[in-house]
Amino acid sequence: MIKANNPQLVSWVEVPEGSDFPIQNLPFGIFKTSYSDARVGVRIGDYVLDMSVVHNLGYLGELPFSLSDFSSCFLNEMMRKGKIASRELRNRISELLQSDNFEMQEKADQVLIPIEDVIMQMPVQIGDYTDFYSSKEHATNVGTMFRDPANALLPNWLWIPVGYHGRASSVILSGQDIHRPKGQIKPDPNENPIFAPSRQVDFELEMAFVTFDGKPLGDSISTQEAEEFIFGMCLFNDWSARDIQAWEYVPLGPFLAKNFASSISPWIVTLDALEPFSTETGEQNPEVLSYLEFEGKKSYDIHLEVGLQPQDSEETTICNSNFKYMYWNMAQQLAHHTVNGCNIRCGDLMGSGTISGSTPDSYGSMLELAWRGTKPLTLKDGTERKFILDNDTVIMRGHCEGNGVRIGFGEVSAKILPAK
Ligand code: CA
Repeated sequence: MIKANNPQLVSWVEVPEGSDFPIQNLPFGIFKTSYSDARVGVRIGDYVLDMSVVHNLGYLGELPFSLSDFSSCFLNEMMRKGKIASRELRNRISELLQSDNFEMQEKADQVLIPIEDVIMQMPVQIGDYTDFYSSKEHATNVGTMFRDPANALLPNWLWIPVGYHGRASSVILSGQDIHRPKGQIKPDPNENPIFAPSRQVDFELEMAFVTFDGKPLGDSISTQEAEEFIFGMCLFNDWSARDIQAWEYVPLGPFLAKNFASSISPWIVTLDALEPFSTETGEQNPEVLSYLEFEGKKSYDIHLEVGLQPQDSEETTICNSNFKYMYWNMAQQLAHHTVNGCNIRCGDLMGSGTISGSTPDSYGSMLELAWRGTKPLTLKDGTERKFILDNDTVIMRGHCEGNGVRIGFGEVSAKILPAK
């Protein structure tokens, strides 16, 4: 067991009951305050541990990190030290925060900042963003609606962890609102397309993983090695405009329907912290090709939910799903991504694809929940939704739970503003 994951650990920092951020989590993020620049922090309870100060006070001993790794405005510098160093760092932070360790307690005022005093920043400088399409239920639902119910899954889907290269420049932090995108849509199939604001703005419930530096161009990462190249995970809302998508996606896949914005949650939960919640991947049939074979528990049991909140109204939970529903696991995604020699780099972001379960209340997009507008959802305030309306806020949350420990991701939230 990784030392910092011990469920018996208790911190001298008060952690409210039901918090996503007990001492067993210790996710990394970038924060600033009204009086200081962006830098690395670790979340515990309702506090942020200021890693620059922890380093300055000498608490990190012989660990291979320098001040610049923590005073940086992205996690990339720290992540460049790799998996083993990151694990030792998290173990050391855990030690310093344990209730029977008095090394740092007298400096609490210097190292801890109340969460209400910080402004979260983009955690990672994302080099490349790749989005997979790894939920069989989602791919089946979309194929049924957009193409042919009898052949909903394309022939390659059960062989290849299908993915495409997205756009990193429009990956944004939770809390940043988005204007409704404009583009070519074709409301009447018998008429020419028109240029207009999208009428079918949608969310996609996803998670994403962030990578360490990979191998040189030409080399591959095996499923067995994959975890050594994954730093951690966050919540990910891959905003989509379904009407733009339907018109543009043949032959090269989605383009402007997807690249106007994708929102991420601010805290990167390490793969190490998620290790106790690893679980079996569901059956894969047909048998996968050899480079996609894997051993052990490579999926993760992470409960996910989506809330929709209209302006000046209460939130309605519209979806309950789980990351373990994914057909392809992250190790297979990374092995597939690199099998041709494609190199990944520190700070690459890999989206899971929309995470839908088998029941209609577990579908991970409005497209599926309201079945392309044919089954509108009724919200708590009595209004109906087929897609996301102006001034609606979409909020995603996720957490694991077991052995009395809750490891959470916080939330990713953003509002759709009227078109510019
Ligand atoms: Ca997506």
